[in-house]
Amino acid sequence: MKTSKFYKQQDFQHFLENDPDVREYWQFETAIMSRRLKAKSFLLDGYCKVCDKPTTFLVDRLFGAQETSQSWTPNWRERLVCTHCQLNNRQRAILHVIKDTIATRANEHAISLYAMEQITPLFAWLNQHFEHVTGSEYLGEKIEGGTIIKGMRHENIEALSFADQSFDIILSNDVLEHVNLPEQAIAEIYRILKPGGEFFMTVPFHPNALKTVRRAELMGSQIKHLLPPIYHGNPLSEKGSLVFNDFGWDLLEQFKAVGFQEVSLCHCCSYFYGYFGIQYYFMAYKPLI
Ligand SMILES: [Zn+2]
Repeated sequence: MKTSKFYKQQDFQHFLENDPDVREYWQFETAIMSRRLKAKSFLLDGYCKVCDKPTTFLVDRLFGAQETSQSWTPNWRERLVCTHCQLNNRQRAILHVIKDTIATRANEHAISLYAMEQITPLFAWLNQHFEHVTGSEYLGEKIEGGTIIKGMRHENIEALSFADQSFDIILSNDVLEHVNLPEQAIAEIYRILKPGGEFFMTVPFHPNALKTVRRAELMGSQIKHLLPPIYHGNPLSEKGSLVFNDFGWDLLEQFKAVGFQEVSLCHCCSYFYGYFGIQYYFMAYKPLI
């Protein structure tokens, strides 16, 4: 997997416009799609780093494929579903990163990991493969943090119930956009990370925007919509989860403001591992002192 780190918008923009690999990948994706103009779905061969074996990746038109009368482009981020583990592009890529990160730690078996999800296949995989894994879901506003209901732990990430310096690694997949006060959640993540700990995150991001756009805010228990509401799928709610913010590059500043260092957008791609399209995740490091 080729990974490139970016700290500023203009550097990322320059990379996307000038990197020969990015151009080659784009040509390759266009060639793949040009042979499947009428297909509703198709399979691509590859290697799943989560399953650690050769697999096929399912590509279909779900989750907002861009369709014209001439052609279509899949939502690469949400598709390329491994036919063995059922995890999609972004989920497999972030687990690949977590796996590699843990493997390089000297105290590999003592690493404590917190994932901001628990009901998902991704969490089940983490729990099977690492020794000290904690997960949680948001179960409702009147529940005390840390309460376990039917085996599931409740946490509000704006006010986590964990002690300071509890975890070596924290993972958040498409959660932060659903939080009313992301800066408060970021401060909480920093608090519960051990010094030397790392935070990894995927989140819908607008790489052309310098500033985050607020779509909604909580006024007491009332939601005030500033833009037409957008909801994302939530396995615990039929209505889905409301998007409060469309993040731009100032998100990185919010991380630095609470003390994080090396806050970066990490672009990753690999046809072998089935990471197509312009894919990235974020990482932030809590310094030792
Ligand atoms: Zn797999």
